[in-house]
Amino acid sequence: MIRIDKKSIETPAILDPEHPENKCNAARKQHEDSFDSGKIKFKFLPKIYGHQSVKYALIKVQYGKCCFCESEITAISFGDVEHYRPKAALQLDDRLPLQYPGYYWLAYDFENLFYCCQICNQTYKRNYFPLEDEQFRVKTLKHII
Ligand SMILES: [Zn+2]
Repeated sequence: MIRIDKKSIETPAILDPEHPENKCNAARKQHEDSFDSGKIKFKFLPKIYGHQSVKYALIKVQYGKCCFCESEITAISFGDVEHYRPKAALQLDDRLPLQYPGYYWLAYDFENLFYCCQICNQTYKRNYFPLEDEQFRVKTLKHII
């Protein structure tokens, strides 16, 4: 994995919670308890986190390379916008079921988004996000406020 310094680039405006097209954050705050308990699944809008301005910003800051394998993506494919901390659900191991919710509150957080190749994203990384010590996992937004 390459070191990526996002301080050198501005967060794309579409990810701003106050942006007119990004109404997800208001909905998130309103239904937070339901999302945390699993009563309601947070609906993610790829048109926000996958917006062209987000992808271009990530391509620029990562020099067109996959955040995991460092392949130059743009020469062979469009690439994916990856949620480093999985947005919907996470998995500790291939043999274990998905755990809900994922880090839904980071779905539109620029610090959690990376540009990666489809092979790394869809074949290897997927929802995989184990921690060295699971007792330190943040499971709801309330844990960090
Ligand atoms: Zn890759």
